[in-house]
Amino acid sequence: MQIKRNVLLNPGPSTTTDTVKMAQVVPDICPREKEFQSIMGPMREDLVKIVHGQDDYTSVLFCGSGTICIDVALNSLLDKDKMALVINNGSYSQRAVDVCRAYGLPLIELKQPIDTKPDLSPIEKALKDNEGSVGYVYVTYHETGTGLLNPVKEIGALAHKYGAFLITDTTSAFAMIPINVYEENIDFCMASAQKGIQGMTGLSFVIGKKDIIERSKDFPVRSYYCNLFMQYDFFNRTGEMHFTPPVQAIYAAKQALVEYWNEGEDNKWKRHQRVMNAIHEGEDKLGFKEYLSRDAQSGLVSAVLYPDDPNWNFDKIHDYCYERGFTIYPGKIEQQGTFRLCALGAIDENDIKDFWKVFEEALDKNGVQVPAEYSEG
Ligand SMILES: *Cc1c(COP(=O)(O)O)cnc(C)c1O
Repeated sequence: MQIKRNVLLNPGPSTTTDTVKMAQVVPDICPREKEFQSIMGPMREDLVKIVHGQDDYTSVLFCGSGTICIDVALNSLLDKDKMALVINNGSYSQRAVDVCRAYGLPLIELKQPIDTKPDLSPIEKALKDNEGSVGYVYVTYHETGTGLLNPVKEIGALAHKYGAFLITDTTSAFAMIPINVYEENIDFCMASAQKGIQGMTGLSFVIGKKDIIERSKDFPVRSYYCNLFMQYDFFNRTGEMHFTPPVQAIYAAKQALVEYWNEGEDNKWKRHQRVMNAIHEGEDKLGFKEYLSRDAQSGLVSAVLYPDDPNWNFDKIHDYCYERGFTIYPGKIEQQGTFRLCALGAIDENDIKDFWKVFEEALDKNGVQVPAEYSEG
């Protein structure tokens, strides 16, 4: 079977290999069969291994897109009489704030600028002022809207110093940027199969400390479907998800993990960096500017500023590229026109070189000036 290959430069779902796509085509199976269970056990172990966790960590699978894990972690891991402390410096941490509000959780929202790494002193001050009452500190590992990388290790150390644990949303970093949960003071992290492991949407997972999950048995139950302990406990007793799992997404993830280990953590990260270098080279050549300075960037997302050119029209450029197999993505920054070019997925630098040719043609066809024009600076 021939499957058209699209190069996705959006921040996930990302380009997958044909072998991952084809792994979904399997005989119909009832997911309550032992044959199916035997896939999920090793998969849970593999996910923990990716972030170098040992026996004191586990992973718990959920059926849903990545946001389900933000919901699960925030609502399940807060004891009564405790407050959540969320560092809000981008659209994904705003999502965490919204989740806390939806559940009516006691919340300290610590707003920080979205274009630079956050200062540690207001974080420490908030922890000190509320010592003993903060249950967890939550920070987005990599803010996918801007490409900002947060100092998770330092924030985790502060959380621990004041008796809180650390939850970080690693959805757009997991299995791309090498992560070590011990070295980075991470008690809980999360991701979904359609990003770093290059699988399909529908399978997401929370990875975290077993002893804290066990303790959370006595925390208030705020959701029936999205409760971490209940899903963990069901896995332990039966080897299954509580409710119907995303069967095909799990077969795809199984193959994606085989390919992950074959490529290797270092080689994979080097490939993503190669892709980002090729993205940066093209931007420099065409005079496109970015929202973030390069030293604050994750290496996985570039948020590109719209040029101040009357002929610039994102949709037209998008459509031209899309018709030729390249997907670019609108930005997520308020009051600032940006689009995103991301280094996720099963792509390499040659794909980016091909993309820039098409992009340059799109500029030319639409009469957008090169080098790109910016009114300031
Ligand atoms: C993609 C992403 C998510 C999940 O988004 P969904 O649309 O629910 O899959 C969560 N957090 C971050 C940082 C992400 O990049």
